[in-house]
Amino acid sequence: MMKFDVLIVGGGLAGGTLALALEPLGLKVAMVEAITDEQRHASPAGDRALALARGSVDIFEQLGIWPSVSKHATPIKTIHVSDKGHFGKTRLSATELGVDSLGHVITARYLEMAIADLCRQRQIEIMCPAKVTGLNTEATAIKVELANHGKSTHCQSRLVVAADGGNSQIRQWVGIGYEVNDYHQKALVANISTEIPHDYVAFERFTETGPLAMLPLQASRCAMIWTHGEKNAGEMLALAPHAFEASLQDTFGWKLGRLKLEGKVKAFPLCLIRAQRLFAERVALVGNAAHQLHPVAGQGFNLGLRDVVALARLLESQNHHGGDPGAFTMLEKYAKARASDHNRTIGFSHGLIDLFVPSTIPVTLGRNLGLMVLDHLPTVKHWFARHAMGMAEDS
Ligand SMILES: Cc1cc2nc3c(=O)[nH]c(=O)nc-3n(C[C@H](O)[C@H](O)[C@H](O)COP(=O)(O)OP(=O)(O)OC[C@H]3O[C@@H](n4cnc5c(N)ncnc54)[C@H](O)[C@@H]3O)c2cc1C
Repeated sequence: MMKFDVLIVGGGLAGGTLALALEPLGLKVAMVEAITDEQRHASPAGDRALALARGSVDIFEQLGIWPSVSKHATPIKTIHVSDKGHFGKTRLSATELGVDSLGHVITARYLEMAIADLCRQRQIEIMCPAKVTGLNTEATAIKVELANHGKSTHCQSRLVVAADGGNSQIRQWVGIGYEVNDYHQKALVANISTEIPHDYVAFERFTETGPLAMLPLQASRCAMIWTHGEKNAGEMLALAPHAFEASLQDTFGWKLGRLKLEGKVKAFPLCLIRAQRLFAERVALVGNAAHQLHPVAGQGFNLGLRDVVALARLLESQNHHGGDPGAFTMLEKYAKARASDHNRTIGFSHGLIDLFVPSTIPVTLGRNLGLMVLDHLPTVKHWFARHAMGMAEDS
């Protein structure tokens, strides 16, 4: 039977990045992924745009991932936040904060494929397509059952990392409970070509249906992420392209001139899923398996990446001292190290939704005053910007 120190279940963004972070440590690491690279490349979900915080770009640079993806990434130089039909608005600018960009936007597919390619180049042991179908925790290791081309095989690992996404089965098998907050909303996602260049501005506009983000992409295009209630989303998806464009234009306005749809609009159901614990015996949770967030604040993967770095650092130190990579004390340290960032980031994202859901006049007034205050109070604005840039930990 194959034996590993660390078995990563899930080769998405979190699992793949963790594999790359662990590769130089000299541990025996393997990654199991259920779908092939071709399936991932063809997946419509790959069209979603990711806003990468500055902190995430720094991590990608340290891991040697950034050179492979930077050519696909567009810097955000300004964030423009506004409330449709109301007076409040605020701008956060990189120059004002003394940085060259507030973050970058990249189409998820480019990042996923670059990480998968790097994992292969660095000769990380990858079992793909293979699916973990069961676990059995023993005193010194976990026995893992895999289904591979219809055949059942086994391996064992001293630590299993669940990077298997928001509906993590590993989380369920090891008895870690989770909380779900269904927003009964869908994010409508599409690429939009704009008549006027975006000038590297990311727009976040709070509208009567829900938040609308227009993130800068390459070649005078923007990534639209527009949140609607479930019923409304269904109606929007049924619209002919020109009617959808007219509705988008009416909601967003003319700051970028005429807006045109490029390709189809895709819908993603939105809910907050949060694991009640980050570890079980010889198992750690990272990325969406630990927390799946609403994309309104663009924080989901940024937070997951910080899980990956924290776990990799602890494993490095454990390995340095010849310790067990699945040791309870190390997993406890991992959970402790991540607690405040999780509370702060999940609270920040969820709070934004509460504040900006279609709402009553007092809340609208409150948030407009909030945006105005934000614009005139540099300290608060900097606090907001540091959250948006994924650097709140440093503040
Ligand atoms: C519309 C939208 C916009 C977003 N925008 C942003 C943004 O701007 N910024 C940001 O930071 N985040 C954003 N996110 C969130 C981000 O996309 C996710 O946080 C991130 O993709 C999660 O990565 P992951 O690797 O944890 O999970 P996943 O991407 O779900 O990967 C899990 C992997 O595990 C595999 N798997 C599952 N079960 C098994 C098994 N039993 N055996 C083997 N393999 C298995 C799956 O095939 C999959 O490849 C957005 C999300 C959406 C939907």
